[in-house]
Amino acid sequence: MLRLRGGQVYDPANGCDGQVRDICIGDDGRIVSELPADAPVLDLSGCIVFPGGVDVHTHIGGAALNFARGMIPEQHRRAVPIYRTAHRRAGLVGTTPTTFATGYVYAGMGWTTANEAAVPVLSARHTHEELADTPILDKTACVLMANNEILLDLLEQGEEEQARHVLAWYVHAAKAYGVKAVNPGGVAGWKWGKDCKGLHEVVPGYRRVTPAQIIATLARFCDELHLPHPLHLHCNNLGAPGNVHTTLETMRVADGHRVHFAHLQYHAYGGDDWFTMRSAAAEIAECFNGHPHFTADAGAVLFGTTVTVTADGPWQHLLYQLTGRKWGNLDVENETGCGVVPYTYKEKSIPNAVQWAVGLELLLLIDDPWRIALTTDHPNGATFWRYPEIIHLLMNADYRREQLRKLPEKARSRIILPELTREYTLREIAIITSAGPARMLGLTQKGHLGPGADADIVVYNRSASIPQMFAHPRYVFKHGVLVIEEGELRASPEGHQYAVTPPFDPAIEDYLRPLFQQYYTISFENYPINPEQLPHVQLLSPPAPSHSVEQPQPASPPRPHSSSAASNPSSC
Ligand SMILES: [Zn+2]
Repeated sequence: MLRLRGGQVYDPANGCDGQVRDICIGDDGRIVSELPADAPVLDLSGCIVFPGGVDVHTHIGGAALNFARGMIPEQHRRAVPIYRTAHRRAGLVGTTPTTFATGYVYAGMGWTTANEAAVPVLSARHTHEELADTPILDKTACVLMANNEILLDLLEQGEEEQARHVLAWYVHAAKAYGVKAVNPGGVAGWKWGKDCKGLHEVVPGYRRVTPAQIIATLARFCDELHLPHPLHLHCNNLGAPGNVHTTLETMRVADGHRVHFAHLQYHAYGGDDWFTMRSAAAEIAECFNGHPHFTADAGAVLFGTTVTVTADGPWQHLLYQLTGRKWGNLDVENETGCGVVPYTYKEKSIPNAVQWAVGLELLLLIDDPWRIALTTDHPNGATFWRYPEIIHLLMNADYRREQLRKLPEKARSRIILPELTREYTLREIAIITSAGPARMLGLTQKGHLGPGADADIVVYNRSASIPQMFAHPRYVFKHGVLVIEEGELRASPEGHQYAVTPPFDPAIEDYLRPLFQQYYTISFENYPINPEQLPHVQLLSPPAPSHSVEQPQPASPPRPHSSSAASNPSSC
């Protein structure tokens, strides 16, 4: 047990906005309301206290990321090495940090939970192995389902009830936490060299199924199955000038359901082509603000070299054609695809400058910070360890103006960032980095500091330098264990992993078994991951499915995460 005394606490979920208070860590690694008078004390006078960071959309493990690691030896050559000590394993940081390094670096910045946002079910076992090797962080994972041919065939036949059982079975088989949709229908079409640009176009190879149908159906299934996280959606037409129309249409199609819009920055462009590309952040933010049951993450871009990794195979092929850089394409049997292209965002490139601005514009124009999370779609927009740079840009309008002056004049005329004067407060930073994404993921024990919460706590020294302060916390506690002290790793506990087990009709296995025999290279019996192979994964059972569409719960206004926190306003 430990009393953290006298810090200035930012705990937005419990209405605490910089008040000085104590935080008490109980022996079970959770926050408690009080401790005995003789409990050990750590004096935090003058320090700032946040709940541990939660990354709602990142790529930190699995076949695609590993493929990307192998494709960029030139970037790894410049990467910061981590040497083995008593508390840590060796590794590399760089663009795609190795597994152990990923845990150390996230924790070193105060992030304690991460959602691996794109896992093909077929390679879920590999992903779990890598996530198990990623210390300190608690993890969740979303499985790719919007191009699964068994599911699409059922939608084609109008067998929706059956399709929902199939979806629930795949989530169970992968030991996943949520459902991801990437370029619905487009990745299935890419297997034949095609794409789905329009939401109401028929998916190549089908007679009736459209991306709109896939999106609306999967969003409804996630609601009906009571998954803690809504459909995690990467819209069609990612990255393309003029894709604002597709994104707005997607919001209309998804209306009435909870949906999480991934890396919204990549879906908010106006113009007709690369020569006229402009920001459409204002149109997207206006529509998004009017749909309180939608959430999003920014997918912000920072200038520099990185590697892009996505299941959106057709987009990656186009990016390869545009850049002439290396290109890797992976096909995942009946389920999805994947593309990898190293990329450099350049300040002097007008499309890149527009992208840089759009991510910040969305963060500044979406009026409810509870519904937009800070991400870079790591490693796509920038590596996660550059988050403090974005926090600096959000908190300091003068610094933004300084950076804007470096952009080409033509780019400045196509963005609205110069007009935006909003500056994020520390409370809002705590929301977009922790409280909001925890709520988006439905992780009730994360993102707050009320009694019952996991004692994932980050302590910053107050500093005039925002990036310095957020890059180098003074202390980080994970589940009550001091893991970082003054920049040094003190302990490296294993993280937890959370998965859901939505109920499905057991008869669905009789339907799937022969299809596996016919179409998969892996036998049906060997496909699902046995929970005994993953002792660190905590399986959560959502309530029984409902058959009617429920009124989605708005993401705001803020409410306490747990009944104990609600009945304990003493926290502030
Ligand atoms: Zn992503």
